[in-house]
Amino acid sequence: MATPTLQNYIDGRWLDASGGGTFENTNPATGELIANVAKSTVADVDRAVDAARRALDGWRLYPAPKRGEILYRAGEIMLTRKDDLAREMTREMGKVLAESRGDVQEGIDMTYYIAGEGRRQFGDVVPAELPNKWAMSMRHPVGVVAAITPWNFPFAIPTWKIMPALILGNTIVFKPASYTPLLAVRLVEILEEAGLPKGVINLILGSGGDLGDHIVSHPGVDLISFTGSSDTGSHISEIGGRLLKRVSCELGGKNAIVVLDDADVDLSLDGIVWSAFGTSGQRCTAASRVIAHKSVAKEVVDKLVGRAKKLRLGNGLEASTDVGPVVSASQLERVHSFIPIAEKEGATVAAGGHVSTEGALGKGFFHEPTVLVDVKPNMRVAQEEIFGPVTAVIEVSSVDEAIKAVNSTKYGLSSSIYTRNVNNAFRFMRDAETGIVYVNAGTIGAEIQLPFGGMKATGNGHREAGRAALDVYSEWKSIYVDYSGKLQRAQIDAAEGTKTAP
Ligand code: NDP
Repeated sequence: MATPTLQNYIDGRWLDASGGGTFENTNPATGELIANVAKSTVADVDRAVDAARRALDGWRLYPAPKRGEILYRAGEIMLTRKDDLAREMTREMGKVLAESRGDVQEGIDMTYYIAGEGRRQFGDVVPAELPNKWAMSMRHPVGVVAAITPWNFPFAIPTWKIMPALILGNTIVFKPASYTPLLAVRLVEILEEAGLPKGVINLILGSGGDLGDHIVSHPGVDLISFTGSSDTGSHISEIGGRLLKRVSCELGGKNAIVVLDDADVDLSLDGIVWSAFGTSGQRCTAASRVIAHKSVAKEVVDKLVGRAKKLRLGNGLEASTDVGPVVSASQLERVHSFIPIAEKEGATVAAGGHVSTEGALGKGFFHEPTVLVDVKPNMRVAQEEIFGPVTAVIEVSSVDEAIKAVNSTKYGLSSSIYTRNVNNAFRFMRDAETGIVYVNAGTIGAEIQLPFGGMKATGNGHREAGRAALDVYSEWKSIYVDYSGKLQRAQIDAAEGTKTAP
């Protein structure tokens, strides 16, 4: 079978990159070539932004409940294709099939949830301080949204950005990660099939390094919604800030699971293994730290090491695989580079620690699930995002020390505590400086009806998902209607008026 070519989608048409260039999309488990991908130029970006601008008024004025109907149809199509999408995702970025199905399901959940906002988008109607005057607020679309997305959730994360942007009447230029163009194409195909008018979504494939600055600084782009590394997020924010554009960033994490002395240790182990090694540790919510009370630390480490060693690495399409590859050779190198860094600082490798090249694994990018012990909260492996199957165990003597350790990194995305003591649980819920807190569950597994995002350097104050997502993609407009037929001065005549109250 000939290798397919993935094209851009601009103004309702599938097009090669203007320069004709392509790059390769390969399977990180096997090295197999999946597709040749349009390598866009800035001229393609200009066309996409132009198309999005031209489509803006038509889409903005199309009734929101009707926009919702298109989203419902998209959700239905996703549901019928869930298994095919999941298989393509595993081939493209490596995570095991069950997790890829979860990724698609999250996209479906988000699409349905946001479709309902077509008939909500509540504003406030409040009493005015002056007689015969009406006061209310409503949402207004921001304009053209650039959605720049990562490879680790190649279906769900784009829906988190695209669906709320669409329901509020914005149009879109979508730049997915270069490791996962296929799932981006599939999502756009679904929206096209669901009846999205031309120009409302435009897909640009190609290198973020080459195209990013042009997209972000383009005068036709009003809002940049970005998920990815802190370095790129900070670079985008700098450009966006200078141009006074709205920039929403969802960045890294250094998430921790606390296991207190009164915890159900076996239950905590289920959460730790799932959160540390699921998606090969490539989740922004992955548990890359385990903070264990000294009275249970040995039991936690012994059991964790035993379980990590039993995990089977392999192609995510095979039912026997527990942990898939990491996404690329450079990511493998980066993950592995933390092992000597850890050892140099005094940590010990208790499980894993190697790149796996045995048999068929040699064709892909596999790293053993790794447990580091003798880790102190200030070591680099306890501070920096590794984004691979590596977790670091830190021992503490009290709940206070545990909370201090949780909060000791620059990030603030997700945290978890295992305890049977309700007082400790509530203290943790109150004091953890993270946007997401779990009690007696691991650090991963957010649901789309609540806000998603983090404190401190994990982001810049915005939240995705839930109702909070609507705030990113809309401006508030406050409207006053004076039907008194005379000049009424707020704060002046109102203050006078109180003297003549009936
Ligand atoms: P990046 O931040 O480089 O990539 C994320 C997205 O941004 C991709 O679409 C990428 O395009 C694009 N991009 C890259 N450079 C620019 C730029 N200058 N301007 C605008 N867009 C740009 O992350 P990586 O994929 O390289 O992953 C590196 C690290 O980022 C990981 O090790 C991890 O720590 C973190 N990360 C965090 C995620 C999270 O969910 N919080 C998700 C993914 C990564 P392209 O793919 O073409 O380079």
